[in-house]
Amino acid sequence: MSRLLEVEHLVKTFTTRGRLLSRSSDIVHAVSDVSFAVDRGETLSLVGESGCGKSTTARCVLRILDPDSGSVRFDGTELTGLPAEALRRLRRRFQMVFQDPQASLNPRMTVSELLAEPLEVHGIGRGTERRRVAELLDLVQLPRQAADRYPHQFSGGQRQRIGVARALAVGPDLLVLDEPVSALDVSIQAEVIRLLERLRTELDLGFLFIAHDLSVVGLTFDRDAVMYLGRIVETGAAAEVYESSAHPYTQALLSAAPIPDPLIERTRRRIVLVGETPTQTQPPSGCRFRTRCWKATERCTEEVPALVDPGLGHAVACHYPEPTNIFATPPGASGQSLAGAGSLASEPGGSHDCHGVPRPRRPPLAARSLALARSHQTQEAPMTAEAPTDPRPRAADRALRSRAAAVIPGGMYGHQDAGRLPAALPQFMADGEGCRIRDVDGNEYVDFMCSYGPIVLGHRHGAVEEAAASQRDQADCQNGPGAIMVALAERLVEVVDHADWAMFAKNGTDATTTCVTVARAATQRRKVLVAEGAYHGAAPWCTPITNGTVPEDRAHLVHYWFNDLKSVEAAVAEAGDDLAAIVVSPFKHDARHDQELVEPEFAAGLRQLCDDTGAALILDDVRCGFRLAHGGSWEPIGVAPDLSAWSKAIANGYPLAAVLGNDRFRAGAEGIFVTGSFWFSAVAMAAGLATIDALEREDAVAKMQRAGQRLRDGLAAQADRYDIAINQTGPVQIPLLTFDGDHHFALASIWTEVAAINGAYFHPWHNWFLSAAHTDADIDEALTATGPAFEAVATAR
Ligand code: PMP
Repeated sequence: MSRLLEVEHLVKTFTTRGRLLSRSSDIVHAVSDVSFAVDRGETLSLVGESGCGKSTTARCVLRILDPDSGSVRFDGTELTGLPAEALRRLRRRFQMVFQDPQASLNPRMTVSELLAEPLEVHGIGRGTERRRVAELLDLVQLPRQAADRYPHQFSGGQRQRIGVARALAVGPDLLVLDEPVSALDVSIQAEVIRLLERLRTELDLGFLFIAHDLSVVGLTFDRDAVMYLGRIVETGAAAEVYESSAHPYTQALLSAAPIPDPLIERTRRRIVLVGETPTQTQPPSGCRFRTRCWKATERCTEEVPALVDPGLGHAVACHYPEPTNIFATPPGASGQSLAGAGSLASEPGGSHDCHGVPRPRRPPLAARSLALARSHQTQEAPMTAEAPTDPRPRAADRALRSRAAAVIPGGMYGHQDAGRLPAALPQFMADGEGCRIRDVDGNEYVDFMCSYGPIVLGHRHGAVEEAAASQRDQADCQNGPGAIMVALAERLVEVVDHADWAMFAKNGTDATTTCVTVARAATQRRKVLVAEGAYHGAAPWCTPITNGTVPEDRAHLVHYWFNDLKSVEAAVAEAGDDLAAIVVSPFKHDARHDQELVEPEFAAGLRQLCDDTGAALILDDVRCGFRLAHGGSWEPIGVAPDLSAWSKAIANGYPLAAVLGNDRFRAGAEGIFVTGSFWFSAVAMAAGLATIDALEREDAVAKMQRAGQRLRDGLAAQADRYDIAINQTGPVQIPLLTFDGDHHFALASIWTEVAAINGAYFHPWHNWFLSAAHTDADIDEALTATGPAFEAVATAR
């Protein structure tokens, strides 16, 4: 990383004229001695309430305003005092994204014109504007057809993407983003922030991100600087400022992030600053925050606190810094710091503490959990002087998340990133037995995710563990596979009706990708049909997030709609004589959608189309294999695929995947090259063989059906009791519950949150998994956790 922007001792004042006809004037101290730096490839967020000077700082950086004094160096060049022409030339390299895309985009210009305008202004790329516009649209993930439309034809989030594309048009190194998401819906904010993060990494940009809400920037960015009345009061790595804020103002800001829900606003607790709010024209002497601070002493009146590191690893401008995790420690637990000083108030309606300050009543679990659930995106938790909202220990999980943030990109990635889930769901797990799991803080749950599918017999299943241990005693990873590979292939061919042969790998993505490769090799054709919205893995040809892939990776995919044979026929016609395969899931189990069982006529229609064209019918049984039926998920409806992809449940948690195929595609399979360093490990194969035996022996599918039905009936009865309209979709072994009209999964998040706090682990928008280890008693116990969850939803509606 190299230093892109250095701001030192920046000062900006404005002189205001007094009232009409008055000759007096006031000096507004907008920015007073502010210093910070932004490196290439990093984001510094400048946070504070309105009027704190953050936007003035940004405008001084861009030389939209001239500072009174101080230095602004961009990539080594001093900007203050730079002649206009030199500044104009340099300006190409630092651009601004505005808060309100509606206002910042000329409504009479098309997107194409809007994106080409900066190129014209800076005299860049004449004659190549169209190509550059297309590139920019790709960058911000808008369709190229957007070029011919006008700003009003887009949603707020899309308009902000256009704003970002316009700022990127001239290839800047630094973006100054002035509250770029505060005009957007909360759900869209996250998307735009993700887009910005991606662009920053991909293009190695520096970001100065202005925000008024610390919860928006939270842990997302690299460093935070918190401003109060023209000065930076706390700055450092985002995780430190967020999790060990030491300045009372930062703590108040963290406790006060807005939540757009009246119920939460009623029930959440805050630090409400009750002292005198000063003006920028007459900032207090000494510490500018002292008039609102519960810790203020004489010293704070006399001495300006320096912005220094008091040994915490980040800098704080306070004479009495005290690191506090607003989200972990009940205020007051760390002594005087928050609850004890008497200038901390909370919402009315509660009891009073010994200083006469109203203390909030502890809200019922449902309401408290609602606040927690709604705050999950931002990690915000309500403050209480009496008890933490989530009463369970969480410190170990928080500490691991914080360490992970330093050494794992994004702290976690993929579908198991708990940062996107309700806050009560832990990121890190410790152990499990049967259908019970425990997180790293020792909290126990009845598990309905089963590791997102692999655990089909229950965690640490005796026979599977024994088989794995016995194989491990002999050998696992060798120069060649063990005899177990042949035994496992024989067993799969015996059990799965359509299979004449088996190949092995490690992941579902390996298996689906291999199926497609075999189909293309066998047919020597290119086109592959996939259902709109279906998930088949994380390889470039199928990943749902195309960032980092190129259009060529999926150039030969043609889409159809699940259960809509006409759309498949149209796709087959489009593929013509180049059709290699149709890929299909056993039922529609796309995350964030109600599930849909397959219509047997649809399945039979696909079979017929493949027979007619010579293409391969590929069943992606990665998620469902061995949960719905013992011989493959379409065995009960009598439709045999040519190739099937398996993974999740085939070795009860051991890493194993399989491709099964019929003899028509054997030569295709023989003709491709696929392998992996660990694809032949014997332990997972031994576990796989033992899993298949145990599934049969224990009549596992029937057990899961029984447990799943009991859960479905129990949940339906509870929802009925609270008069809540729910949808329970998919097979009972792989169920999903959604709430009517809950398009953004807000109610589902509340429900999941309260269930987790009460000891049952579900997911708000990904289907769940039952295992053969779930007994009637386990289901009944889980239902005692979902009762309060429905109560919380009933309160929240
Ligand atoms: N296909 C389906 C239907 C899946 O559910 C998944 C995993 N969720 C995959 C493919 C990819 O499997 P893996 O994550 O093991 O690569």
